[in-house]
Amino acid sequence: MPFMPMANKEPAVRLPLSFEFFPPKTPEGAAKLRNVRQQLYAMEPEFCSVTYGAGGSTHDGTFGTVREILGEGVSAACHFSCIGATKVTVRSQLAELKAMGVKRLVALRGDLPSGYGIGGEFLYASDLVAFIRAETGRDFHIEVACYPEVHPQAKSPEADLQAFAAKVRAGADSAITQYFFSPEAYWRFVDEVRALGIDTPIVPGIMPITSSTQLMRFSDACGAEIPRWIRLRLQSFGDDTASIKSFGLDVVAALCERLRDGGAQSLHFYTMNQSVATLGVLERLGWSA
Ligand SMILES: Cc1cc2nc3c(=O)[nH]c(=O)nc-3n(C[C@H](O)[C@H](O)[C@H](O)COP(=O)(O)OP(=O)(O)OC[C@H]3O[C@@H](n4cnc5c(N)ncnc54)[C@H](O)[C@@H]3O)c2cc1C
Repeated sequence: MPFMPMANKEPAVRLPLSFEFFPPKTPEGAAKLRNVRQQLYAMEPEFCSVTYGAGGSTHDGTFGTVREILGEGVSAACHFSCIGATKVTVRSQLAELKAMGVKRLVALRGDLPSGYGIGGEFLYASDLVAFIRAETGRDFHIEVACYPEVHPQAKSPEADLQAFAAKVRAGADSAITQYFFSPEAYWRFVDEVRALGIDTPIVPGIMPITSSTQLMRFSDACGAEIPRWIRLRLQSFGDDTASIKSFGLDVVAALCERLRDGGAQSLHFYTMNQSVATLGVLERLGWSA
C-alpha cells in the first residue's frame, strides 16, 4: 500500500514526547545543541535525556548538558551507565545529580569498548537499579532500556525478557525501547511483558532516518533490525541525501502513526542532536507546535 498523505486527516491525538541528546564534544557542538533544544522545546517534551558514555567517559559533558536543560526550565533525565563503575563513584555521582535537581535517570549497563573487559562492581543494569533504589529510595524516577528485537548479547529472547523483568523488580518505573522499524516486534514484546504481570510503561524509542550509512552502522552494532525493504531502498539512494531523508520521513512517520493508533502511550526520539528530522516526523503526524 502506498503511503497515504496525512494532511487531510482529522487533527491527530498527540502523545507525550521525550527527546534524547548526546553530550557535545566541542563548544560549537554545544552552541548548536542549544539551538536544537530550543526548536524542540516548542513541542513541549515531557523531558529531555542526555546519554552517558560507558565508564564515565562523558561525565562532564553529560552532567553539564543536563544542568543546561534544567536551567532552561525543562525536565532532564540523566543516562547513567554502570559498567566498570564502583559503588563509591556511583554513590557520589547520584549525590551530585540529586544536588543538581535531577529527578529522572535512565539506568543502564552500558558497553565498554572492546578490550576493556567488564570489571567494576555492577554486572547488569538490574544491579544498578537495585543500588539506586537502596541508596536513594524514591528520589529518582528510574527508566531502563529494553529490546523488542532482543539485546544482541542475550542468550535467548526469553532470557532477555527475564532480564528486563529483573530490572522492573529491582525498582524501574518505566522503560524506553531500543529503536525498531517493525511495530510487530514492539507489540509482541509489550504482550510478553504484560503476560508476566508487569504493567510498567514501555515507551517506543524512535530513530529518525537521516543517513543511510550511519543508520546501518548503528543498527549492526545494537542489533536493531532494518527490514530488507527499507535497507534496499536506502542503499539504492546512494549519496542522494534528499531522497534518503524524504523516504526516512515517510517510514518513521508511518511507524509513529501505527504505534499511536495501536495504543503506544508516548514516544521517545533519538534526535542525534538534530531537530529537523524529528520535527519533520511530528509535523507529518499533525503534531506541529
Ligand atoms: C533507551 C536506551 C538508552 C541508552 N543510553 C545509553 C547511554 O547513555 N550510554 C551507553 O553507554 N549506552 C546506552 N544505551 C545502550 C546500552 O548501554 C546497551 O544496549 C548495553 O549493551 C545494554 O545496556 P542495558 O542497560 O540494557 O543492560 P542490561 O539490562 O544489563 O542487559 C545487558 C545484557 O545482559 C543480559 N542480562 C541482563 N541481566 C542478566 C542476568 N542476570 N544474567 C544473564 N544475562 C543478563 C541481557 O539479556 C542483555 O543481553 C542505551 C540503550 C537504550 C535502549
